Amino acid sequence: MIPLYDYSLDELSQKLQKKEVSSVELTQSVLKRIEETKAKLNTFITLTKESALQTAKTVDQKRIKGEVLSPLAGIPIALKDIFLTQGIKTTCCSKILSQFIPPYDSTVVKRLKQNDVVLVGKLNMDEFAMGSSNENSCFGPVKNPWDLERTPGGSSGGSAAAVAASQCLGAFGTDTGGSIRQPASLCGVVGIKPTYGRVSRYGIIAFASSLDQVGPFGKRVKDVAHLLKAVAGRDSMDSTSADMKVPDYTQFLTKDIKGLKIGIAKEYFIKGMEASTEKVVHKAIDHLKKLGAKIIDVSLPHTSYAVPTYYLIATAEASSNLARYDGVKYGYRAKASTLQEMYRKTRGEGFGREVKRRIMLGTFVLSSGYYDAYYKKASQVRTLIKRDFDEAFKHCDLIVTPTSPTTAFKLGEKMEDPLQMYLSDIFTISANLAGLPGLVLPCGFDEKNLPIGLQILGPHFKEEKIFHLAYAYEQSTEWHQRKPTV
Ligand code: GLN
Repeated sequence: MIPLYDYSLDELSQKLQKKEVSSVELTQSVLKRIEETKAKLNTFITLTKESALQTAKTVDQKRIKGEVLSPLAGIPIALKDIFLTQGIKTTCCSKILSQFIPPYDSTVVKRLKQNDVVLVGKLNMDEFAMGSSNENSCFGPVKNPWDLERTPGGSSGGSAAAVAASQCLGAFGTDTGGSIRQPASLCGVVGIKPTYGRVSRYGIIAFASSLDQVGPFGKRVKDVAHLLKAVAGRDSMDSTSADMKVPDYTQFLTKDIKGLKIGIAKEYFIKGMEASTEKVVHKAIDHLKKLGAKIIDVSLPHTSYAVPTYYLIATAEASSNLARYDGVKYGYRAKASTLQEMYRKTRGEGFGREVKRRIMLGTFVLSSGYYDAYYKKASQVRTLIKRDFDEAFKHCDLIVTPTSPTTAFKLGEKMEDPLQMYLSDIFTISANLAGLPGLVLPCGFDEKNLPIGLQILGPHFKEEKIFHLAYAYEQSTEWHQRKPTV
């Protein structure tokens, strides 16, 4: 018999609606799975067992009474530890917030609660979402369920690994430069970074405010479509959230993609990427062609500037966002005899190495005399990168690319070389700079049996088109059916 936690979110949603299973049974199955595997994977920072079972019970009662419920009602999900959860510790995996208990819920959490979702816990991540391997967490790295000696990617590594290992039926993360898509690729699950402004950022600990966006992880494209629909849409608490109708993404999941124009950019097939990744992605593109899509060459000429541009803009914004952690307003405070010393020691002891590196770089690029040369220049290049996409989307509906130049790398492999680490985001960063939506789904494996993800990028607010292509691909392949053996 297949254990309940091994089904997909959508399958379980049907089973719950038909009353074949109860949410309490499902939640117990998931909690047991977490207990059995959490030490191996180091995915969970906080478990909310009791409140999860309590919510499950309440949802079951509502269902018995015949109330009309959301498709997500009674489904166990987990959150990256960057979403404020009222009364539940929210650390951002930083020592400086290690005891922080938020007084209110983020909008995403509020909306999930309105959908009667069962929250099972908070997930490990890179400190303040800075990293590509989850090794910058003050709680230690997450292990990749496909190979425990390897990283799950980052910064939402806990979210991707937890979904891959069936410790929850879906999870939420954030993506500033690839933090949903790269770990989804490395862990063999589906993840989407929606258009900037599609989901409210209210109550999410800020890293780089002009780039940060929230998105879901799931085992299947349809699961992710359900999850995004539940949280998307205008929120008066976030002035950058878009006042645009949210379509029911599940309505766009059909298998016919005949005539769909798919752009391929040569700038996304670079020297230094692993041969197996390149081969698998080309095979996936051939497959789309067989399904009836039209493959078109497009050009994104400023792609090679994306990584340096991102590391100027993101660090500049981070240095100002992280100024608030001063030992006065939030979290950790070091003992000291003067105010100056208190600030210095609090930040010196509270932040990890990578976070300090970014604050220093960001402060430097914003300093008078250097602002024009770095920050202003980067903002101009950002516009050029966005224009590349505007131009490309005049000729195609969607763009398909690899997600990461390599499959999951070994823990420790890139820790002493930040530039190598930064390069793992080379295919994901442009979408954040341009504000575009991007989804990643499994499209094959390398010779070490490590998953490879295909990235689908779309025009602003065209998530439904992306879902359409992703679903057609998924339903005509079998990659999503493989599971790690953890
Ligand atoms: N890996 C990138 C970084 O370290 C992106 C992180 C993210 O998307 N949060 O900044």
